[in-house]
Amino acid sequence: MERPNQPLTNDVQPFSFSLHKPSEIKSFLDRYVIEQEEAKRGVAVAVYTHYKRILHNETDDDVELEKSNILMMGPTGTGKTLIARTLAKYLSVPFAIADATSLTEAGYVGEDVENILVRLLQVANYNVGAAEKGIIYLDEIDKIGRKSSSPSITRDVSGEGVQQALLKILEGTVAHVPPKGGRKHPEQSLIPMDTKNILFICGGSYDGLEDIISQRLGKGKIGFGGTASSADSVGPNVFSHVQSEDFMKYGIIPELVGRLPVVTALHDLSEDALMRVLLEPRNSLVKQYQKLFQMEGIELVFRKSALQEVIRRAKKLNSGARGLRSVMENAMMDLMYRLPELAHGDGGEPVSTVIITKNVITGKKLPTYRYLRKSA
Ligand code: ADP
Repeated sequence: MERPNQPLTNDVQPFSFSLHKPSEIKSFLDRYVIEQEEAKRGVAVAVYTHYKRILHNETDDDVELEKSNILMMGPTGTGKTLIARTLAKYLSVPFAIADATSLTEAGYVGEDVENILVRLLQVANYNVGAAEKGIIYLDEIDKIGRKSSSPSITRDVSGEGVQQALLKILEGTVAHVPPKGGRKHPEQSLIPMDTKNILFICGGSYDGLEDIISQRLGKGKIGFGGTASSADSVGPNVFSHVQSEDFMKYGIIPELVGRLPVVTALHDLSEDALMRVLLEPRNSLVKQYQKLFQMEGIELVFRKSALQEVIRRAKKLNSGARGLRSVMENAMMDLMYRLPELAHGDGGEPVSTVIITKNVITGKKLPTYRYLRKSA
């Protein structure tokens, strides 16, 4: 039971944002996200439309434009969260990430669905006006399917119950959130938060979805973004054929699918793409390590074969580009530990260049060092 509440914070301060063209949004995404062209374009258009809609609905009430939340499908480590995070950075709006699998229907063990709004509020420093125009990335949306297709005797509190609660928040409602998160209790002051202008980006891997679509279309199997192998294959754009009945096979209720009108797919990254991930983004792993070394006055060189080895090992982890970081961190750990000594030449000459070869990544050899020539 909620009391008529006296919110602790109710400062709906004006929050302004500027409208960016889809092409501008896309070029910003290009600086951080390798490939995934379709997803970047889809998201850029959806975001542009979303904020245009907010401006329109604030000034003009003849036609109410509907919200276009986004569903991003694709294997793990292909850039779903990265796209959402990069977007929020570009737009300078509050951004929060939540995991759908941690949610349960109110009153049960687990997190209340409203807690995803609490996070947004906290990121916005309790400026409700800003939080109400923020972006929430909701991960693992495919994992909250109804547990069985027939109505069950026990309540399905983490499946359909969560979907019903999410549905309201996604379409737009005034939710009452506990300012510090956690469970609501009657003595607590709650903050009313209108979700109608919050953009929800949902992500999920939907393992096997491509086969479900292909089967429905009466075609052969095809992988995520895979290449068409048979003449009658539906082609790499298999996801453009996705229908709500396909999602229902995952136990996702049709109303929830209906609240995610923009559906876009990401594909597995090839070895070439992973190489670009290592090298090209503004915050790529290679650039970050080089910067850390440069700050100590040392040049860091990665041989191409070393990076190929990183990719080979990362692929074995089956976590897409996410695996690159753990492989790299593992290989660089010892060197990072000794970096200050190398730079200052404790017990020897200061090192000027460190070269990482394939054998360093496999752990067979130490890096090659070049030293500063001793001053005469
Ligand atoms: P998920 O698709 O599971 O949400 P993430 O977006 O969290 O994956 O990716 C994990 C990490 O892998 C990112 O932080 C980023 O460093 C890297 N990464 C994944 N995909 C890409 C991509 N397309 N371009 C550049 N980096 C990527």
